[in-house]
Amino acid sequence: MATSLSDRLSTELAGLRDAGLLISPRVLEAPQRARTRVDGRAVVNLASNNYLGFADHPKLKARAQEYLEKWGAGAGAVRTIAGTLQIHEDFERQIAAFKHTGSALVLHSGFTTNQGVLGALLQEGDLVVSDELNHASIIDGLRLTKATRKVFRHADPADLERVLRENPTDGLVMVVTDGVFSMDGDVAPLDELVAVARKFGAVTYVDDAHGSGVMGPQGSGTVHHFGFEYADDVIQVGTLSKAWGGVGGYAAGHGDLRQLLINRARPYLFSTAMAPATVGALAAALDEVQADPSLMERLWDNTRFFKAELHRLGFDTMGSVTPITPVVFGEAPAAFEASRRLFDEGIFAVGLGFPTVPRGKARIRNIVTAEHTRADLEQALSAYEKVGRALGII
Ligand code: PMP
Repeated sequence: MATSLSDRLSTELAGLRDAGLLISPRVLEAPQRARTRVDGRAVVNLASNNYLGFADHPKLKARAQEYLEKWGAGAGAVRTIAGTLQIHEDFERQIAAFKHTGSALVLHSGFTTNQGVLGALLQEGDLVVSDELNHASIIDGLRLTKATRKVFRHADPADLERVLRENPTDGLVMVVTDGVFSMDGDVAPLDELVAVARKFGAVTYVDDAHGSGVMGPQGSGTVHHFGFEYADDVIQVGTLSKAWGGVGGYAAGHGDLRQLLINRARPYLFSTAMAPATVGALAAALDEVQADPSLMERLWDNTRFFKAELHRLGFDTMGSVTPITPVVFGEAPAAFEASRRLFDEGIFAVGLGFPTVPRGKARIRNIVTAEHTRADLEQALSAYEKVGRALGII
């Protein structure tokens, strides 16, 4: 007898429940802002990736409405079949100009961008070497390829060099890393990684989901932070769903990259394009970050203030240097308890435990944004002090 769907569902859910891993997202009753309402409570929001406060920004909403009126609610079909809207083409040129790259292509999310680009570029006989802490969408993207897959130790150029030396190939060689790592908030040592990659003729592929809108001049990204924006052997991918306030992903780099992806990236070929309102919001986001330098200043002022105050209170933030600010609570139950108590104090910040992060390093991940006021952060810090003392962490 075949397994019934109800058996499969109840067994899997019971397994997750017993392991304490069953997740249900909290429900927001107001827009994704620095202060919002979650499950009936007014909270300071430290859980989102809304780095620049664009998720509910008036200029993004105005442009989204304008594009909605002018271009409609939907894109109609896959771009190679029904034709591509002018606004998609214009937006891609805007990204390439912003990133100083030869070309850029937009896909539906950061997740599908990794799948589409890695799947399109890598072939049998190629070698891809990936940081051990790279994001799940990179891991899934690499599973779609027939390239030989190897891993190097997190942010370790010497280990990367060892792996490249031990695996010579005539095929394309690609080094893959996140720009900013989403759990620890550390930055890939791109200057050293690119130097090693170049010794072996390898291309460097940077997933800058958490670096776009955060790192580099005007939030142009981690690749810009390290000065590699004009390099043809560096591919930048990232999401338009975090700092840029909408949803989508981009790939930017070599002048021919876009044309190849149009022909080979499966999400481009088989999935309908981004809705016009989203294109409008994102185009406005790119304009706004260049027009208003105070956005980046506030993001980094807030980041420095929040980290310094957490250190002064005695918390361990794992050496994070970006707005992603982990606070270590040890084992998972302590982190989850801390998250519950912070919520009772009006602070929304998620607890993360094994297997998302290593055992003993369970944490609360806080994300500081440009939209937080000093008062928001001070409220969060006094809640942290109270909860940290009650749980014996500080
Ligand atoms: N790459 C990294 C490093 C990420 O953190 C994320 C988001 N969790 C993604 C890709 C996926 O981006 P998106 O949410 O746009 O699918």
